[in-house]
Amino acid sequence: MTTIIDGKAFAARVRGQVQAHVARLVEERGIQPGLAVVLVGEDAASQVYVRNKHASTIEVGMASFEHRLAAETSEGDLLALVRQLNADRSVHGILVQLPLPPHLNSELIINTIDPAKDVDGFHISNVGLLGTGQKSMVPCTPLGCLMMLRDHHGSLSGMNAVVVGRSNIVGKPMAQLLLGESCTVTIAHSRTKDLVAVCRRADILVAAVGRPEMITGDYVKPGATVIDVGINRVARNGKTKLVGDVEFASASAVAGAITPVPGGVGPMTIACLLANTLTACCRANGLPEPEGLTA
Ligand code: NDP
Repeated sequence: MTTIIDGKAFAARVRGQVQAHVARLVEERGIQPGLAVVLVGEDAASQVYVRNKHASTIEVGMASFEHRLAAETSEGDLLALVRQLNADRSVHGILVQLPLPPHLNSELIINTIDPAKDVDGFHISNVGLLGTGQKSMVPCTPLGCLMMLRDHHGSLSGMNAVVVGRSNIVGKPMAQLLLGESCTVTIAHSRTKDLVAVCRRADILVAAVGRPEMITGDYVKPGATVIDVGINRVARNGKTKLVGDVEFASASAVAGAITPVPGGVGPMTIACLLANTLTACCRANGLPEPEGLTA
């Protein structure tokens, strides 16, 4: 029987843990974790993400600081805001919603965030810390995948893991995390030869390609765990439907466990953003980190 890994339920559990921890921090120490989200411009998808992040932040009892800036905001003004948030002691996490308008240098903006407040884990210092196996801020989506894998398997040590996709926000950090768990890790990408054979060696197969339903059952080793990071909107029978990078019907017939889309990795991403903000707050105050919510 194939296990459907319920990311929605798992994310609700993570949010509950965060909420309980936040309540204790507020009650016992008078500390309220705070998350600042900066949105530049009118990108429709980004507006939805930012709204959801705000609602989830409030729901777990954290302070939410939203900064909505005009699309034509200058780099200087945005950098000044980031520096102001870096200095603000009530802000423990800073997230600059990507993509930024093209006239803004995303790397410069992200690398201006205080690494200790970089809850997206995109600052070059956090990338380096993760790559060298040191304590860092870990990107939310791969962190969510790792939590689900640990929950399902316990130890991942010695397992063959294949990550399809080598982006800086998903593929590479996912591979680093799996390496940290002592998996034997392969990173595949658009130039990989015989991708099907590579994927069929995987005990753990993570798909982060951005191609709707590309990974079919043929790519899956019988009994493997499949994590589908993809979020693709496709038109089907005149309606818009959300599908992953994995073709669920054929892959789930072969896999031992699989995350669905929607309801798999997606809900974990915001839950991990909240977890990272809590972790950042604990670190900033010299307090023990929340258990089970870090890499
Ligand atoms: P990118 O477009 O940045 O990276 C895609 C990767 O897939 C690249 O490394 C590319 O290889 C590889 N790739 C593309 N086509 C193929 C192919 N035919 N065979 C093998 N590899 C291929 O995407 P992201 O990493 O940002 O996102 C991946 C997916 O995850 C998307 O569907 C996105 O929507 C989703 N996503 C979901 C999140 C969530 O919260 N659940 C968060 C972030 C992303 P190459 O480098 O050679 O071009």
